[in-house]
Amino acid sequence: MAELIDGKRISSEIKDELKQKVAELKAQGVTGALAVIQVGNDPASSVYVRNKKRACEYIGIESLSYELPEETTEDELIALIEKLNADDKVNGILVQLPVPAHINEDKIIGAISPAKDVDGFHPMNVGALTIGREGFVSCTPAGIIQLLKRSGIEIAGKNCVVVGRSNIVGKPMALLMLRENATVTITHSKTKDLREVCKTADILIVAIGKKEFIDASYVKEGATVIDVGIHRDENNKLSGDVKFDEVEPHCHAITPVPGGVGPMTIAMLMSNCVEAMERSR
Ligand code: NDP
Repeated sequence: MAELIDGKRISSEIKDELKQKVAELKAQGVTGALAVIQVGNDPASSVYVRNKKRACEYIGIESLSYELPEETTEDELIALIEKLNADDKVNGILVQLPVPAHINEDKIIGAISPAKDVDGFHPMNVGALTIGREGFVSCTPAGIIQLLKRSGIEIAGKNCVVVGRSNIVGKPMALLMLRENATVTITHSKTKDLREVCKTADILIVAIGKKEFIDASYVKEGATVIDVGIHRDENNKLSGDVKFDEVEPHCHAITPVPGGVGPMTIAMLMSNCVEAMERSR
């Protein structure tokens, strides 16, 4: 039986460490505040925003809530971001994505000061990751590195295949694995013979956005499989991009859905907020 990589336990561990760090920083007079902006009231976004605010409360940093109506213009949103960029009390700014269609997402991401971009989406932070400089790293891939390290899975020298090349998961994931000295292959919808490529992976990271796409025929015996996908069916049951029951017996270790990668994203957002606090000192 494969080892189950427990994202719930590891994310709690990280949040407890951060809580301690925040208390130490506060004792030195350093305070933290995360501005959370939501435009419109998409129910899924509201759940994410609520969870992020709860996590802030748990680790002891203030969250400032900006709930803007759906009709908010791009200029109005940018004006708010600029105000928060200039506010010394705020050390992290997060705009919950997606924004309504009349607002250009890239412009919004680009308007956030890179020093306060705790989501790690700003081109300056992405560039910093690419050339190995310090900067904020996208939360989901950063969380996967923590899952691997804290589960004792060696990365250096291993063959890693990342399925998916999105800007928020696939690409930063590949760069982070490279930084950890894995030999990395990035695959996507135009990859020829995906199955054979996946079978070369010691560590297979799947962020494809297609329910249970990866079955046992894609997985090398003894591989570690990380499933980023989240799909909710009509009965509210969650599943991933990997056929868990079929793949699990062939793995050395695997993340479940739910309880694998999911809980790590907010934990790493909190980690970025604490890093922003430390930098603002
Ligand atoms: P995107 O839809 O942005 O990207 C999907 C990627 O998969 C694309 O690069 C696409 O290739 C590739 N792809 C699609 N079909 C195939 C195929 N048949 N063969 C090979 N590659 C394929 O998704 P995201 O990266 O944003 O998210 C992926 C999944 O992870 C989703 O289920 C999402 O819900 C989940 N997610 C979970 C998070 C968490 O906290 N756990 C956070 C973020 C996302 P191409 O570029 O060629 O189109």
